[in-house]
Amino acid sequence: MLAACLLLCAGILYYAWLSFFNRDAGLVRYPLAAAVILVLSVLVVVGLGFIGMVISLLTFRPLRLFDNMVNITVSLLYPVVLWFGQRLRIAQDKIQSSFVEVNNQLVRARRQGRSIPPHRLLVLLPHCLQDSECPRRITVDAGNCVRCGCCPVGDLLALGERMGVHLRIASGGTLAREVVKSLRPEAIVAVACERDLTSGILDCNKLPVLGVTNYRPHGPCHNTRIELAAVEKAIKFFV
Ligand code: SF4
Ligand code: SF4
Repeated sequence: MLAACLLLCAGILYYAWLSFFNRDAGLVRYPLAAAVILVLSVLVVVGLGFIGMVISLLTFRPLRLFDNMVNITVSLLYPVVLWFGQRLRIAQDKIQSSFVEVNNQLVRARRQGRSIPPHRLLVLLPHCLQDSECPRRITVDAGNCVRCGCCPVGDLLALGERMGVHLRIASGGTLAREVVKSLRPEAIVAVACERDLTSGILDCNKLPVLGVTNYRPHGPCHNTRIELAAVEKAIKFFV
């Protein structure tokens, strides 16, 4: 992120220097200068957000003043970071996993010492946790699961009941967004792969989301697994 910030600043300043001091630029130089100042102002906000994020991660303290700036920074710089990663041949999964980890640490720093009633927490599970041979339509109603023990869904449902939280199984981002819209939770524990977690966290922007990554021993989107203790720990953190 820091590299992305510095590169963008350097590029804009270089462009400004070329256009503003170019003798042939004429009157065009003034709107150009205004545009450059505007973009630089956004970059200052992004820079402050970056500093706020690093301080928060290092000290494990919430910095409320910087919260909005951190959110803007993460949303704006994430695509640039992905682009950088591709150029440096860093696997996308690795960057997304790092993104989820940074997000989780920021959420823990911001929410420490604050709890919410269990019914205000939503646990979102992906449909790929279900055994691929299972005929039960659990995305329509999780109650259709008979908890046979062939996949982690039964244990997760039992955990949700024990903790008194809302638990839903979504077959995609659209359904997940609908559930969030209808239940209006105060916080979310989301289980998914790195890619889905990243887009979900970016979607929810202002809602605190703790992400738990699934395992994919049989490849993506098929009979995935989850560490039950990690989900329980994330639920306990909020409630
Ligand atoms: S626990 Fe059994 S019934 Fe429930 S979703 Fe998994 S395979 Fe289907
Ligand atoms: S592996 Fe990821 S993309 Fe595939 S279904 Fe599971 S959560 Fe969704």
